[in-house]
Amino acid sequence: MKIVDKLQLAEQARQISFSFEFFPPKTEQGVVNLFDRLGRMAQWEPTFMSCTWGAGMSTEERTMSICSTAQVVHGVETLLHLTCTNMDITHIDEVLKSAKEAGIQNILALRGDAPRGHEYWTPAENGFHHAIDLVRYIRQQYGDYFCIGVAGYPEGHLDSTSPDDDLHHLKAKIDAGADFIMTQLFYNVDVFLAWQASCRALGITVPIVPGMMPIPTYQNFRRMINLCNTQVPDTILQELDAIKADDQKVKEYGVQLAVQMIQQLLKQGIYNFHISTLNLERSTKRILQQLGRLAPDMTATTMPSHLTPLPLVQDLEHAENWD
Ligand code: FAD
Repeated sequence: MKIVDKLQLAEQARQISFSFEFFPPKTEQGVVNLFDRLGRMAQWEPTFMSCTWGAGMSTEERTMSICSTAQVVHGVETLLHLTCTNMDITHIDEVLKSAKEAGIQNILALRGDAPRGHEYWTPAENGFHHAIDLVRYIRQQYGDYFCIGVAGYPEGHLDSTSPDDDLHHLKAKIDAGADFIMTQLFYNVDVFLAWQASCRALGITVPIVPGMMPIPTYQNFRRMINLCNTQVPDTILQELDAIKADDQKVKEYGVQLAVQMIQQLLKQGIYNFHISTLNLERSTKRILQQLGRLAPDMTATTMPSHLTPLPLVQDLEHAENWD
């Protein structure tokens, strides 16, 4: 099924919906652990799951295997991220054909960043200079078979010449045939809402799915906001600074912050949320529980200690990867 139809259904029914993003782990053991998680998280009935694509073809095999497992084994609609630079057209075509054969019907069409070790992005020689070139190519070659998502940047893309130019380039991707927008992570809801209003004013009518990243650790958060040049309200920075030495407190703060942001966005009529899980399970689970989408865990704090459930065997096997 096309993701855009599911996003529109959630909007029409005013029903909160979640999707989960994963990235391809570096090791075989990491992949095995992720497959376990996919199975458990599939039961939380996400609208879809997505997996990132490493620049060029660096993660091709693992990205495809994660996407086809989610789609075929778990029956969850899957969004394959695909970058179009540093790959020749025949290879892009092979990936699209394999996706189609695996029953994957949704592609996030991206330009991609500069490869590791290169400071600036430079256009590839394959004729694909921007994400719009991939959108056009998919529409030209595959008609309406694929549902296409594109990236949007509430705080502007780092390479953009101006916020207005960035918005016009986004509109051009929609006009070229993209069906929905998924955003870069953000921590300032007002900034997101103002940007979304500008998109609507420009005539962009497709669903816009906010990208949320529950804070995993203080260091990781600082690295991400520096990398993406994300604005973070001072109160959040101060509150985090006070607990930065305690990983558990930071994680819990991240959960509460995500819940609060989602509640603010729900009030503004936004129902679809994409969670960048960083391949971790617990924060996403806690967010869904707090928003009433999952039953709370029966843990030692909520039931007598003699009833505390034992960890699942698979959890014990992969205890080194607990989040
Ligand atoms: P584009 O839409 O091409 O935009 C890039 C820049 O070019 C912008 O500044 C835009 O304003 C400008 N521009 C666009 N069209 C034109 C034009 N015609 N003329 C002049 N300027 C133009 N990266 C990965 O490597 N793998 C992933 O899996 C991945 N997933 C992502 C998921 C999301 C939700 C987001 C937000 C980003 C993701 N990225 C991923 C990062 C992304 O590849 C980078 O941000 C990249 O720098 C831009 O990609 P884009 O598709 O937005 O590019």
